[in-house]
Amino acid sequence: MPIYQVALPLPKRQLFDYLHEQQNLHPGCRVRVPFGPRELIGVVMSTTQNSPFMSKLKPISQVIDEQPIIDSTMLSLCNWLAGYYHHPIGEVLHTVMPVALRKGESDKPKPIETLRLTQTEPDVIPEVLGRAKKQRELYAELLNHAQTLSVVKQKYTDGVIKGLLEKNLATIELVEDTRIDADFQFNSNVIKPKPNVEQALAITAISQALNKYTCFLLEGITGSGKTEVYLQSIEEVLRNRKQVLILVPEIGLTPQTVKRFENRFGLEVGILHSNLTDNERLLVWQKSRAGKLSIIIGTRSSIFTPMVRPGMIIVDEEHDASYKQQDGLKYSARDLAVIRAKEHNIPLLLGSATPSLESLNNALTHKYQLLQLNQRAGNAVQAKQSVLDITNQPLQAGLAAGMLTRIEQHLKAGNQVMLFVNRRGFAPALLCHQCGHVEECKRCNKPFTVHKSLQKIQCHHCGAARALPKQCKECGHHELITQGVGTEQLSMFLQSQFPQYSAVRIDSDSVRGKAKLDNLLTEINAGAHQILIGTQILSKGHHFPNVTLVVILDADGALFSADFRASEHLAQLITQLSGRAGRAQKLGEMWLQTHQPGHPLLQDLINNGYGHFARFALSERKLASLPPFSFHALFRTESLQAQDGFEFLSHVSQMLQHPQIRIVGPIPAIMEKRQGKYRMQLLLQSHSRAILNQVIGHFSTDIEALPIARKVRWSIDIDPQDF
Ligand code: ADP
Ligand code: ZN
Repeated sequence: MPIYQVALPLPKRQLFDYLHEQQNLHPGCRVRVPFGPRELIGVVMSTTQNSPFMSKLKPISQVIDEQPIIDSTMLSLCNWLAGYYHHPIGEVLHTVMPVALRKGESDKPKPIETLRLTQTEPDVIPEVLGRAKKQRELYAELLNHAQTLSVVKQKYTDGVIKGLLEKNLATIELVEDTRIDADFQFNSNVIKPKPNVEQALAITAISQALNKYTCFLLEGITGSGKTEVYLQSIEEVLRNRKQVLILVPEIGLTPQTVKRFENRFGLEVGILHSNLTDNERLLVWQKSRAGKLSIIIGTRSSIFTPMVRPGMIIVDEEHDASYKQQDGLKYSARDLAVIRAKEHNIPLLLGSATPSLESLNNALTHKYQLLQLNQRAGNAVQAKQSVLDITNQPLQAGLAAGMLTRIEQHLKAGNQVMLFVNRRGFAPALLCHQCGHVEECKRCNKPFTVHKSLQKIQCHHCGAARALPKQCKECGHHELITQGVGTEQLSMFLQSQFPQYSAVRIDSDSVRGKAKLDNLLTEINAGAHQILIGTQILSKGHHFPNVTLVVILDADGALFSADFRASEHLAQLITQLSGRAGRAQKLGEMWLQTHQPGHPLLQDLINNGYGHFARFALSERKLASLPPFSFHALFRTESLQAQDGFEFLSHVSQMLQHPQIRIVGPIPAIMEKRQGKYRMQLLLQSHSRAILNQVIGHFSTDIEALPIARKVRWSIDIDPQDF
């Protein structure tokens, strides 16, 4: 009987041997196998003649797929992932598969739930709908043609759909998707802007490299028309009947983004984001694999979507932190896109106004081809950037008096203003005015954040929350004061200062839930709010044509951070935020409040722009031998006893000694304690990626087998992005 080597979703760096009478189980097929008292679903990787456990081998209990569901390209990507990230292959395969497939569901497409009108009198909206605006809207859309339920749900709430169903105006039908192929016949009569010279150069360069691997870095200032370059470059790919995969940052995937692609080509766009159900995800996966989708847009994990006829991959806002997975298999979707594009031999387009120093370095050393857009598209002009010295100035809710006047001017002119503060909630700390005691989360040793409207204090590291205390726990005094400013406080303050305008918060507290962010963005652009207060979310590529003033309250913390990437991230944030102003015909300005107006980094950024700053920062990294001029791997531990983490990492450190590897630690992580667990880390740095990879790879099973490894949760992070 043949012996099959199966990858199982376990934290073990090995394959498991099983017997099966069938001779030709292909690699990439799923099987169900006994494992201890349980059954697990694994993927066949290879066959072998003999096994060290020959006499004890058990048979495969069920073969799920006759044909591989993971094709050979994806299998080799999985092997690359396991090798590069030193992650167990079984867990890699698990990560790559949609959840429904991990659970053993069939990979054959299921009929699709479709929403269809029960009767259709052309162009008539039934009276029963009365003033139900959304229901009328949906009805009108369905008059044109029936729609897939999941597509409808992206635009309409369940309540709206239920409304039509309960009035018997619409019905849900199961429809088989009988299309053999995607409709690549796109609508080419759509009016599109004539590319400017820089755009035209970029589009031509890309169009000339369609049938081979080339990585382009499209470095284009905010509003320079990068998306337009994507759109026009894709045309040729679609004309060749090939598929395009577009990655966008987590928060950047709004219906507005998708609509731009749908409207341009009039084609169905497959969408993959974290709010989909398992079945909806599986459906997109199946359709893409079967060639029934020509365009797929998704967040990080959509880099695993199979394509029969891959034509191009695009990574928008390639610098965005959300492309790096922070737990489990800690892959970078952007880096994997490079590997995948090479494997398929297709072009890859990385776009950003603020490219990561890694990508920029690859472009400057000609590994990538650099394409630049230095002008804003159409008639828009870049916002003027300035710093405001706030040393010794009285601040109200973090704002200087001069800034308030400025805000008023912009509001009076009928424009919108946008304020950035990096903390959500009311204030980042609550302290006793009498004894100075600060309310801290015991499990994380960090101050609780005050949420006034919820009358709560909450730990932003573990989520623990409790009622807002009325008196000090230490001395019993009743005068508790808040320290620092969060979005909630700033928004309350501005609303009271400018009661005739509407202030709105845009942070993860206020945009929680499915359609919330999109609705808010629509409201804002319809002019329902004039004062926008938010966190990082604001910087993520959204289009606010009426914003003319952007204020950054205080970003000084990043100038003195222990993380060597902090200044890069700060420069990206400032540039992206400033890029929200003056996007239409109106002139915009950005003000950065700071205690360090003369700081060389800020001066360089403000006077010379991100491109200049980034090139200078690269030269500094080179002098300091920091990435991308050296390579990092980080071992992390979490343990109940701080000593266990230290001991484990000390062993690892001894094992990995090598003349070409510098080891720092074990030291406590920046967040030393979280959810009651102690966190330690060991940093490895080398000039040779190959040596680093080799040495870790050589010892990873030994590390796994260390007795102390059982007392800690440990992980390896290759190319860690934060420490
Ligand atoms: P980015 O992706 O760089 O932020 P977009 O592609 O979204 O820029 O373009 C910004 C705005 O400029 C959009 O409204 C877009 O339609 C418009 N635009 C882009 N290219 C042109 C062009 N060549 N002529 C006129 N308008 C353009
Ligand atoms: Zn906590």
